[in-house]
Amino acid sequence: MFGFPFMPGLLEAKNALILGVANRWSLAYAIAEAFRREGALLTLTYQGERQRQAVENLAGELGKARVLACDVTQPDDLERLGQVLARDGRPLDAVVHSIAFAQREDLARPFVETSEAGFLLAHRVSAYSLVAVSRIAAPLMTQGGSIITLTYLGATRVVPNYNVMGVAKASLEACMRYLASELGPRGIRVNAISAGPVKTASARAIKDFSAVLDTVAERAPLRRNTEPGEIADVAVFLASNLGRGVTGNILFVDAGYQIMGL
Ligand code: NAP
Repeated sequence: MFGFPFMPGLLEAKNALILGVANRWSLAYAIAEAFRREGALLTLTYQGERQRQAVENLAGELGKARVLACDVTQPDDLERLGQVLARDGRPLDAVVHSIAFAQREDLARPFVETSEAGFLLAHRVSAYSLVAVSRIAAPLMTQGGSIITLTYLGATRVVPNYNVMGVAKASLEACMRYLASELGPRGIRVNAISAGPVKTASARAIKDFSAVLDTVAERAPLRRNTEPGEIADVAVFLASNLGRGVTGNILFVDAGYQIMGL
């Protein structure tokens, strides 16, 4: 007679913006799936016309996900994105920044050979974009909110061939901390998930990436690689009320690899 009470999802009716879905292997897609499972309303963005159809198809599979164009290096795109979200008339609760880029040759040759243009491009797309996205998102987070970015161990340790991307991730992590400090008084939390290596389009650009996967599976405390769903569930935690006391943090979701010395 007395059934179980209705259990709402952890993100029921939360309004979430997810940047960085390129295909179904993208970490952002795993996060979008987990956010939908928990009841979030989603806006996904794609970088250029080339990706539009693919991202619209994925949004269709997720159900109730809106798709908008946004190249994070284009201030006009960001402004337009902010305007569309503002017209919703409801607060923005969560942002997932799952974006990075470096020239393929900078992920294969010696770091000392990195060109100034390659260095700046990697930092612009992979680190500065968190600042630019936060600037449009924060005014829409009128009830507080959660901004989440994706980083990697290569920010603080030398990982072969990660090169300029490691330096950009170090910048991204510092940006995350400054944003957390500045936006905290408005109830906006900013955190990073440091994901273990996962085979995605971006990861494939790194020379000898499969050797990184093999090393982690062999040496990580859990003796395996990281599943995208594990990263997504930590993003759910950070976006939800369960994460309300956590800001300015880097949460490692890497089967424990980061604690190992050798
Ligand atoms: P992914 O599927 O290739 O995602 C990277 C995304 O960045 C793509 O959607 C890409 O769009 C987007 N992007 C690049 N330049 C952009 C721009 N100017 N404007 C808008 N979007 C842009 O690879 P992923 O592995 O899921 O990467 C997501 C995040 O996780 C990245 O920050 C990455 O560094 C981080 N991460 C990945 C791993 C891993 O092993 N996979 C580990 C730790 C951290 P297009 O494809 O359309 O260019």
